[in-house]
Amino acid sequence: MKKTLARAMCAAAVAVLPLQMTGQAQQEVAATIRSGPPPFPTPEQYSSSARAQEHIAEAMRMAGTDLVAEATAFCTPTGPQRPALAAQQAGLEPAPERQLEPIRMFENLYYVGFSDVGAWVIATSDGIILFDALNSADEARDVLVPGLQKVDLDPAQIKYLIIGHGHNDHTGGGKYIQDTYGPTVIMGGPDWDTHLASTRADRPPMKRGLDASDGQTITVGDTTVTLMLTPGHTPGTIAMLLPVKHNGETHTALIMSGSQMRDRPSLVAFEHVFNDFAKVQNAGTMLGGHADILMNKLPQMEALGKQYPTGDHPLLFAPEKFSRYMDIMAECGRSRLAALEDAGII
Ligand SMILES: [Zn+2]
Repeated sequence: MKKTLARAMCAAAVAVLPLQMTGQAQQEVAATIRSGPPPFPTPEQYSSSARAQEHIAEAMRMAGTDLVAEATAFCTPTGPQRPALAAQQAGLEPAPERQLEPIRMFENLYYVGFSDVGAWVIATSDGIILFDALNSADEARDVLVPGLQKVDLDPAQIKYLIIGHGHNDHTGGGKYIQDTYGPTVIMGGPDWDTHLASTRADRPPMKRGLDASDGQTITVGDTTVTLMLTPGHTPGTIAMLLPVKHNGETHTALIMSGSQMRDRPSLVAFEHVFNDFAKVQNAGTMLGGHADILMNKLPQMEALGKQYPTGDHPLLFAPEKFSRYMDIMAECGRSRLAALEDAGII
């Protein structure tokens, strides 16, 4: 249980570091990035901020009748949290972590790992793009690699390892994958710096690969993914847009590695990702490496694992609905920032 609680924290120290972003956003973020984990308003600060309440009302208006549950989950003092962390904060024992069978989320996208955290595996015509690497070398060797083999993918064909952010539950297996298969490893620049500064003997760091940049595209075979910078959960957190195939059609998925908008520049970065990338590519789903925070709820994932759908995909929204989903997420981010500002915290 200790192990699960430690993972649930997912809160390595975040240093004050420069960011790699383009244009105005880069300057704004670099000028204001703060150290430490992102602050959240207390429930009292949240409910007593008139501006926060206006943003919540706007989010609920945008939710209409079909996104009420999503808006309700997003517009809270913390935003949606990992169930393990929420249980811990409520003084409860989190549900024990379970290893899952690899889940075919889309025809070319698999989730491999645990009920609490997993890695994304994108199968292309010429190898694999891996997003995240579980908690440790042991898990990379004993869970991730056998998981790839179970779905008939060859781990020797991992061409890229992309790390969503530098916390150990995403980087832990990275060195094993890098040393064993030699993929190009990409992570946000500030998170590389933090990762390489670690002195823990039980967590030997990867060798520095490439720094992710905003709008960077990676092509392997028939598949091109786009990386984007979403500083907030950590300064180097990134997101990825990728084509996902279902029933003969290609859609666009947005994988997020953190959904916290810790300050105004962070909000600007998220708005940029939603408006200038995801909406332009007609994205239809938002997935996270931890189940239950975004659209990939654990029960739906396990249902997908049992039976891949022959009809409509349960995790795909029409672009109009998904566009509102992102707008609601940003509006709820504004509500927390307003509460933090009104309380004098940021
Ligand atoms: Zn984290």
